[in-house]
Amino acid sequence: MTERKVYNFSAGPATLPVSVLNKAHAEFLDYQNSGMSVMEMSHRSKYYEGIIAGAEAAIRKALNVPNNYKVLFLQGGASLQFTMIPMNFLRNSGKKAGFITTGSWGQKAFKQAKLEGETAVLWDGASEKFTRTPKDSELADSSNLAYVHYTSNETIEGVQFKAEPNVKSDLICDSSSDFMCRPLDVSKYAMIYAGAQKNAGPAGTTIVILREDLLTRIPEKLHVMLDYKTHVENGSMYNTPPCYTIYMVKLVAEWLNGEIGGLDKMEKLNNDKAGLLYNVIDESSGFYKGHAAQENRSTMNVTWRLPSEDLEKKFIDEAKALNMIDLKGHRSVGGLRASIYNAMPREGVEKLALFMNEFRKKN
Ligand code: PMP
Repeated sequence: MTERKVYNFSAGPATLPVSVLNKAHAEFLDYQNSGMSVMEMSHRSKYYEGIIAGAEAAIRKALNVPNNYKVLFLQGGASLQFTMIPMNFLRNSGKKAGFITTGSWGQKAFKQAKLEGETAVLWDGASEKFTRTPKDSELADSSNLAYVHYTSNETIEGVQFKAEPNVKSDLICDSSSDFMCRPLDVSKYAMIYAGAQKNAGPAGTTIVILREDLLTRIPEKLHVMLDYKTHVENGSMYNTPPCYTIYMVKLVAEWLNGEIGGLDKMEKLNNDKAGLLYNVIDESSGFYKGHAAQENRSTMNVTWRLPSEDLEKKFIDEAKALNMIDLKGHRSVGGLRASIYNAMPREGVEKLALFMNEFRKKN
């Protein structure tokens, strides 16, 4: 049994469940008596067909994905989705795409959409330094739009929607950093997408859950790799997929359904873990200052500041010496960030919470 030497609080690629790593390790050289590693087998082999179908089935099970939705494994990161979405669903729509922007990733998605067509700002939190999500009553009119795009969890700012915004057009969600962290009613969305490298596996694939009827809106003559129809028609294997990554996504989703017991359980575990850190912040008499408004605090990325940058550096160095790594906040906002995705064990968060209390007392 491999044990962890460090607790890795990186925002992604991020920590993976130890039991998943062990399983991958055990079958690394010889996958189910195939005589080959998943690393080397053809994506057209019967073994691999089973793997990609298994990955899809496990995701469908976890999220209870309705039958009229396709599940795709694409490449190019969530970043390519910022381009593909407007290319497929805004171009030629004769409508505008609506954006609810609650952080840095939403801004990037917005920028790409503007290259494709007209956009409407439904809400933008930039002037409030991206500390919260809007109330539905604050949103501009969302009717008759090609779609509304939002980011359910802003990884850099640590700001998370607690429920999907209530809008009057098709909803598209970048769920990269909180995918499968809690139960979700997929039927409320036209599309959900997420880079795998935070909650779903290693880097290399982006999971796209797409309502079938959207395929009819795609313009003719798109470049083949940028057309969702290509990937639907070819079962995500028009070109060579990132085989090993998808295999790992399968193992992680099976871990979630099996060992964890599904998304209801996962949500409870995540709320509990995040609560440990937010309690320390709240009970620090202002020594630690959380970035996000209380009601929008992310259960995935906890962001906070210390009284000075010197103390922040000291905190990061001392934590590292105790094998708690990658706690530095994103360069664009500074401070600290603890990413505590699904696979981060409670013990890792307990250890960090304890250290935070001790550090405060000493400093
Ligand atoms: N959206 C969000 C919310 C993210 O956190 C990230 C990556 N950190 C991205 C998009 C971009 O993902 P990728 O690097 O896979 O393109």
